[in-house]
Amino acid sequence: MSSNTAGESATVARLRPFASTIFAEMTELAVRHDAVNLGQGFPDSDGPPAMLEVARQAIAEGRNQYPPGRGVPELREAVARDRAARYGTEYDPDSQVLVTVGATEAISAAVLGLVEPGEEVVLIEPYYDSYAAAIALAGAVRRTARLVPDGDGFALDVDSLRNAITPRTRMIIVNSPHNPTATVLPRADLVAIAELACSHDLLVLTDEVYEHLVFDGHEHVSLSTLPGMYERTVVVSSAAKTFSVTGWKTGWVCAPTRLLDGVLAAKQFLTFVAGGPFQPAVAYALNNELGWVEQLRKTLQHKKDQLSVALAEGGFDVRRSDGSYFVCADITPLGETDAAAFCRALPERIGVAAVPVSVFTDHPEEWNRLVRFTFCKREETLARGVERLHRLR
Ligand code: PMP
Ligand code: GLN
Repeated sequence: MSSNTAGESATVARLRPFASTIFAEMTELAVRHDAVNLGQGFPDSDGPPAMLEVARQAIAEGRNQYPPGRGVPELREAVARDRAARYGTEYDPDSQVLVTVGATEAISAAVLGLVEPGEEVVLIEPYYDSYAAAIALAGAVRRTARLVPDGDGFALDVDSLRNAITPRTRMIIVNSPHNPTATVLPRADLVAIAELACSHDLLVLTDEVYEHLVFDGHEHVSLSTLPGMYERTVVVSSAAKTFSVTGWKTGWVCAPTRLLDGVLAAKQFLTFVAGGPFQPAVAYALNNELGWVEQLRKTLQHKKDQLSVALAEGGFDVRRSDGSYFVCADITPLGETDAAAFCRALPERIGVAAVPVSVFTDHPEEWNRLVRFTFCKREETLARGVERLHRLR
């Protein structure tokens, strides 16, 4: 029998593949080599000043104890009002909106609370890393469909999604605008997903954390708005990307009551509640700062263009970025064949950190030429990154 105090890692088997995240690894490398961190997607500038002030005030006024389990009423009301205004979907703030510790907790709680051990969840590769970990936490089983190259971007392989669905499938997780490929799924792909979800009677979790950050006239369509979908969809979003506060860890779920109750059952025992003073501030921002967000979107559009050009000049084959914080680039023209090795060497080689797309997939061999860069950085940070990318030539 193995010892409980010595020997190999004591981590349970189902979580051993998730021992460390790529973001922690690449950020550590960036710090060690004083590299410009275009790896982990977090802004290096603050959100709307008035929103920050509301949080400071909330602390000063003593809103520092446990808020209500579902979240402060003003934030739940702001989320419901915002969804109704922008998407036309109605959620009751008292029973159909839940505030969570970021989108990350929302996703884990939704899988834990709605998927039985042994049931299957379909992800679309490449997929945001926390989805696979949430499925493992729940003792559920991961199946994958995939995006495929399409012109200078990517498209959903609808057949792969159809083939991934089995009688054990409970849920599909969809993310658009997409991390890491920066794909904004067109309506036709969303309709295809909706038709499969309806015909197989599946739940859908739609991760919309980049819902505001779309470029070049692309439109974000929420799956919850398509025919037959409202009743089966769990919508997840977050203040992190919309208001440049990734450290506030304030997210939310909108879903019909019978689904939200499952998410709440799990959420209560993950964290009980989310951080108190941030919630009135995010409510304020949803009600008053969408103009600021539109400015952010325009700025990011410009930075996306700037980084895309720099990557092309650095010799990469650059993919189209329709939304999110990211642009992906193929390393083949640089004579490179292994994106993971390329990214591990890049901080020391030219002083830039990036993330290999292969870590977001179950088939790294099919995705080993793509590297994800983020452009959600201050102008001076991005300019330094751009200048260093030219050292690749
Ligand atoms: N989903 C996606 C697609 C993300 O990129 C991220 C992180 N940026 C999250 C969820 C997690 O969001 P949060 O920081 O609100 O937990
Ligand atoms: N979502 C961000 C990214 O993809 C950061 C996530 C994280 O650090 N866990 O880069």
